[in-house]
Amino acid sequence: MQLSSNLSRFNEPETLKMAKLGRELRAQGIDVVDLSVGEPDFNTPEHIKDAAKKAIDENWSHYTPVPGYLDLREAVCRKLKRDNGLDYTPTQIVVSTGAKQSIANVMLSILDDDDEIIIPTPYWVSYSEIARFGRGKVVFVHTTMENGFKMTPEELEGAITDKTKLFIFSSPCNPTGAVYTKTELEALANVFRKYPNIAIISDEIYEYIDYANDNGGGHQSIAQFDDLKDRIIIINGLSKGFAMTGWRLGYIAAPAEIAKACEKIQGQFTSGTNSIAQRAAITALDSPLSSTYEMVKEFKARKQKVMELLKEIPNIKYTEPDGAFYIFPEVKSYYGKKAGNEVINNASDLCMYLLNTAHVSTVSGDAFGEPSCIRISFANNMKNIEEGLKRIKKGLEALS
Ligand code: PLP
Repeated sequence: MQLSSNLSRFNEPETLKMAKLGRELRAQGIDVVDLSVGEPDFNTPEHIKDAAKKAIDENWSHYTPVPGYLDLREAVCRKLKRDNGLDYTPTQIVVSTGAKQSIANVMLSILDDDDEIIIPTPYWVSYSEIARFGRGKVVFVHTTMENGFKMTPEELEGAITDKTKLFIFSSPCNPTGAVYTKTELEALANVFRKYPNIAIISDEIYEYIDYANDNGGGHQSIAQFDDLKDRIIIINGLSKGFAMTGWRLGYIAAPAEIAKACEKIQGQFTSGTNSIAQRAAITALDSPLSSTYEMVKEFKARKQKVMELLKEIPNIKYTEPDGAFYIFPEVKSYYGKKAGNEVINNASDLCMYLLNTAHVSTVSGDAFGEPSCIRISFANNMKNIEEGLKRIKKGLEALS
């Protein structure tokens, strides 16, 4: 069978690949500490599960409207007002099977052959691959650890050409944990004001996992700049903030024209997302966020622990993550060293070595466009974090 050339345009997500390799080793009876995970290790809060059980009993079992139930889209609008001070109407909201589908819908709605899409590195693995699948031309902008892995206005403007159609970023950022302040967003907004044809995808899926305030609040959205709002697409969802990755529920808040285009695409690919997850999502969005804040408090304690343990490993540099549940240390001083006869040439070699020899899984920075770093997730319990970091230290010390 000759498979489609579509497949050669993009890669399998490295994050999922590492999780798969870890599972394979565990299936052989090897105890692997998983610090590659991209999801909260907490369970979905009880009140949300109860809402789902009720929805099953009430027979919410039919096809749903393609963009999502109206009362869910109204709940999304209430959330955007409550948490972000933003005004949206249900016609501007499309609910999808995870934020990943939301991003795919938007890119397929906006990009044409050779349109340029600017992505600051390090970036979430799927941005570039979905863009390529959508026939866009990816333009990476390299950000540095010295700037906290945040793009400066000069770097942004330097990458803009007359073909630039789209810009995408996440704040809080996966994999670096960088969070843009209002002032930093305003500086980027000032650049976008000069280029009215560029649409902006603002991925805010880690909104609540923000360590600026103990209660997880304080998130700043670039959509707060009213004059830009008609070309901003907010991506969000329930996966990270409500520990609901498996429920697959994401959404966009966008100009109505883009929402309509996404609805058209989604109508042919998947239709409306799962009815039970949608009913539960209304409860999640309308309820107090106390379970979310409890989870964030725990992530914050783990973050301190990871940083403390990383300090004990020589020749590693990192910036403190202000959000999300990852740390992205620079490990390049270990490249060129040897494990037995095997040379560790790059981040991928190092991650494979740590997995196969130290039995701890992390993700290579290559996957995120930054080859000098690896991503360590602290979405795992304290005991595993301590054990995982101990293994990383021992593994790195064993290199010669
Ligand atoms: N955006 C970012 C930055 C992510 O890290 C992820 C998941 O890892 C997603 C989007 C996709 O989330 P979902 O589970 O809603 O598809």
